[in-house]
Amino acid sequence: MKYISILGATGSIGVSTLNVIAHNPSRFHVVALTGGRNVALLREQIQRFRPRVAAVIDSEHAETLKESLGGYTGTEILYGIEGYREAAAVADADMVVSAMVGAAGLLPTIEAIDAGKDIALANKETMVMAGDLVIRRAESRHVRIVPVDSEHSAVFQCLEGHRKEDVRRIILTASGGPFREMPAERLAHVSVQDALNHPTWNMGTKITIDSASMMNKGLEVIEARWLFGMDAEHIDIVIHPQSIVHSMVEYLDGTIIAQLGIADMRIPIAYALAYPERVTSPERTLDICRGERLEFFAPDYDKFPNLRHAREALRRGGTMPAVMNAANEEAVDGFVGGTIKFTDMPLVVERVMNAHAPREGLSVEEILAADAWARSEAQILIERMHNESC
Ligand code: NAD
Ligand code: MG
Repeated sequence: MKYISILGATGSIGVSTLNVIAHNPSRFHVVALTGGRNVALLREQIQRFRPRVAAVIDSEHAETLKESLGGYTGTEILYGIEGYREAAAVADADMVVSAMVGAAGLLPTIEAIDAGKDIALANKETMVMAGDLVIRRAESRHVRIVPVDSEHSAVFQCLEGHRKEDVRRIILTASGGPFREMPAERLAHVSVQDALNHPTWNMGTKITIDSASMMNKGLEVIEARWLFGMDAEHIDIVIHPQSIVHSMVEYLDGTIIAQLGIADMRIPIAYALAYPERVTSPERTLDICRGERLEFFAPDYDKFPNLRHAREALRRGGTMPAVMNAANEEAVDGFVGGTIKFTDMPLVVERVMNAHAPREGLSVEEILAADAWARSEAQILIERMHNESC
């Protein structure tokens, strides 16, 4: 039996994780769940999985949750960053699923590593902000980080049983998002609804917008750099609209190993939870004889400048990736809230990065300070862009 804590249980990854656990009750047991503001869903999850601990965003939501649970007192209800930290380090957990969205995931994930928990990592922003620090911390505490992100799960599987020195390059696949075929000049006029209409994956709002702007793939290059210890020049991106090949590894002898499957996050989640074993998949699998074509194209760095920004952030190093990530989170909020245009998002990221001189030798505090600085810079820019467009 593996004991599991889920950070971000009420999100897209959290719900899929609980689905995998519900299909494998003899393998996994839930000991902690956290959510943000969705108290109704967290209450249902608590009633079904009966964790020892649950945490929400603040004391008000904690009160509402307690009330909605009636007389049930089997789960300790906590809140705020302290609550999240306790859920991340809860004594009996073997593995923590890091599935909050955005920079909020960083501190609880580090807390889980410090407590010696293995990590199933969905929260890519943790790796983007502090990949070097997180990997070193995990190594020193003998903590295993198993990726949940489908591309990184694919690469992880393609690397198993091989020597890292024999790898020529990692090839991350990308669906290309809903605007893959749209002429660049039309991108300024797309709506939030258009951007949320992802062709192959069903995910939370932030990552869906990131997929439309290709920032998601930029974040994933940085995530791969730290997870697999590869330099950015050995990490390529290919557009693969069918989302069947989830990524590949090319070796020195010219062999390319790929991982295939349907676009269902329960597959990489189940892999991470059960690693190094495997559990039965809950639903259908890939019908390889259906005759579906597999296409691969080069990405368009001009149409999607976020791809360049992410590579530039990685090249400049230090606090720059955290700054890029924070500016992007604010830009996504600005776009989803109707304040800026789709094409303003990469502009916000670029301008905030240009105004930043990255610092090296980082502590968590320095990374969080850079994140806070970038958010306030981005908010000023977003406000200005909004006023100019009115
Ligand atoms: P989501 O928006 O559906 O869910 C996010 C979860 O985090 C929810 O439980 C929410 O309550 C919680 N949360 C949000 N803000 C919070 C805050 N400030 N403090 C504490 N908790 C907070 O997101 P998602 O799509 O499940 O993505 C989660 C993470 O996994 C992201 O980092 C994303 O990039 C990554 N990921 C997601 C997918 C996917 O298919 N959804 C695939 C690969 C990677
Ligand atoms: Mg991915």
